[in-house]
Amino acid sequence: YAAKSQGGNRYGYFTPAMQEAAQTRLRLIADLRGALAADQFWVAYQPIVELATGAVYKAEALIRWQHPVRGLVSPAQFIPVAEETGMIVAIGDWIFREAARQVKRWRAMHHPAFQVSVNKSPAQFLSDDADHPEWFEYLQALGLPGESMVVEITEGLLLDGDAVIKGKLLALRGTGMQVSIDDFGTGYSSLSYLKKFDIDYLKIDQSFVRNLAPNSSDMALCEAIIVMAHKLGMKVIAEGVETEAQRDLLAAAGCDYGQGYLFAKPVEAEAFEQWLLGRAGG
Ligand code: C2E
Ligand code: CA
Ligand code: CA
Ligand code: CA
Repeated sequence: YAAKSQGGNRYGYFTPAMQEAAQTRLRLIADLRGALAADQFWVAYQPIVELATGAVYKAEALIRWQHPVRGLVSPAQFIPVAEETGMIVAIGDWIFREAARQVKRWRAMHHPAFQVSVNKSPAQFLSDDADHPEWFEYLQALGLPGESMVVEITEGLLLDGDAVIKGKLLALRGTGMQVSIDDFGTGYSSLSYLKKFDIDYLKIDQSFVRNLAPNSSDMALCEAIIVMAHKLGMKVIAEGVETEAQRDLLAAAGCDYGQGYLFAKPVEAEAFEQWLLGRAGG
């Protein structure tokens, strides 16, 4: 890379494969810039099921990008790029408003306490353009209380106990919106942040659920997380529940909620609604 700026024989250092990767990335950035205006994003909803009863009154909103040429692009591919370029702020605002309108509908037709969670990456959380008052004002304009939305953040955001983050989190909680720790258990060894911040839900990462079996070390970890969370006044959501065996083990361990392909894959709002209506007892 240093040789490039010296002018010289740049192709000697910048291989065709590197050049192609760089071009693909630039094209992705350019396409992403136009995607919001071109209406290429849509929101998928995945139910979060209460394990003791099977009731569904929560869902997670997950973004989807329908690219005109490349087809469905995975968030794992474009979310990091959106974060690096700051585009995540506008995309995040858009998905929040979409999700809020769905919550309003699902509160009226399905369950009065229905909640939708949205993911908020550190880049979104730290940006001054994306403050919670605006999100809360949008909820108020729809006649919705703060607790109709949950914000999912990852552990890394809370680790250094930064005063700015603490202030933003307090402001968020002050609106009544709730907070969930996503991918819990994959981030850091120190748990001290759990007592410093007011957290509502822990989401056990799917890597602990995947190989869940009686007496396994993953089982011990899940049980310990559930006991700890309950003692600290938090509810637990297990991610990536794919089998009945996993669900039963989690339910027996006292896990509050489960999310995963066993119940439903993430689908667009209309299909989600049909799924809700089609279930016995709602
Ligand atoms: P995440 O927040 O941990 O979301 C859970 C991921 O697990 C989703 O992938 C979901 O489709 C997938 N999943 C759900 N059930 C199962 C299951 O039973 N088995 C397996 N193997 N996977 C399951 P998805 O939708 O591809 O999203 C990937 C990641 O992209 C998310 O991970 C999140 O970090 C990020 N993301 C998605 N939407 C947004 C968004 O609107 N904003 C931000 N900032 N990030 C988002
Ligand atoms: Ca999430
Ligand atoms: Ca997760
Ligand atoms: Ca994840």
